[in-house]
Amino acid sequence: MLSLYVDEGRWTRHQQQVVDAHPGLVPVAKGNGYGFGLRLLAEQATRLGVDTIAVGTYPEIDDVAGSFDGTILVLTPWRPTHEGAVYDERVVHTVGRLEDLEALAARDDRPRVALEMVTSMRRHGFTGRGLREAGDLLVRRGAAVRVEGAAVHLPLPRGERSHLDEMDRLMTELVAADLPAKRVFVSHLDAAELETVRSGWGDFELRPRIGTALWLGDPGAYAIRASVLEVHRVGRGDVSGYRARRAPRAGHLLVVSGGTSHSVGLEAPTPGVRLRDRAARLAAGGLDAAGLVRSPYTVDGARRLFAEPPHMQVSMLFVPDGVRVPRVGDELDVRLRMTIAAFDRIVLA
Ligand SMILES: *Cc1c(COP(=O)(O)O)cnc(C)c1O
Repeated sequence: MLSLYVDEGRWTRHQQQVVDAHPGLVPVAKGNGYGFGLRLLAEQATRLGVDTIAVGTYPEIDDVAGSFDGTILVLTPWRPTHEGAVYDERVVHTVGRLEDLEALAARDDRPRVALEMVTSMRRHGFTGRGLREAGDLLVRRGAAVRVEGAAVHLPLPRGERSHLDEMDRLMTELVAADLPAKRVFVSHLDAAELETVRSGWGDFELRPRIGTALWLGDPGAYAIRASVLEVHRVGRGDVSGYRARRAPRAGHLLVVSGGTSHSVGLEAPTPGVRLRDRAARLAAGGLDAAGLVRSPYTVDGARRLFAEPPHMQVSMLFVPDGVRVPRVGDELDVRLRMTIAAFDRIVLA
């Protein structure tokens, strides 16, 4: 069993702090739900009392709609070819092309839309000129769509002022487009940057969209643990595994929960290790030099080596003599990237 243990009180307290520090916050719940699953995130959004949640794609609406009553903003831009697009009073579509805005305006249910502006990310969205054309179209088509605001997805910050300079430019374009809603959904501005933009552009309501800092901002609030399934004593040269690898030394083989289906993967060997260093390590009896790769599992205080590449649901570790050996049923700490991890169970405590 690969388990995610969540200290619910601490996890929620952290989120409450982030919400308090970012007025108008829109929680982002997409993909694997940052490891927690979309439903749990939707329940948390309800608990936090926010009015809007953002999902990545249309199919994800289903995963949050039952646990959250408010508005659901879809981050992936709407396209006429979206088979699974959901038209519902609660859904806000992101639109980034004039022809898409026209197509939505041609519907008779007055869809709610956020107009995405292209940023230096160059992912999706209107240029300044395109946004002005969109503004003109909205004037011509009257109330054919309900504009909830603009949307801006910034890259990760580079220089001290990079975000603020870009935001100034985007806000100037936004003012020129004269949209009916003075609201901007923004991604990747920190609290200080948000304050600066707010004070410079007082007419606009800023709605920060935040995922990582909200759900994963307090790593002490959750822990990943894997069960030890088997412990085998091995002598040097004993073979094991699919590939009949030989143990580099005497020690123990541990069969533990967690494999490729959970995102347990091979980590790159220590970067920058040159051949000469490798030879030196081999001489010193370094196990990584014997071709074994460091795993994300901790045994007796240190990350241990894979005995062979992880299988679908279990992994095999080698621990040399001298390490305190866990027993079957014990749990080991594991480090995984939460945005790709899948767990057998989530335990709230
Ligand atoms: C994923 C995403 C976010 C949230 O990003 P985090 O770095 O997890 O806070 C915000 N905006 C958009 C458009 C996204 O796709």
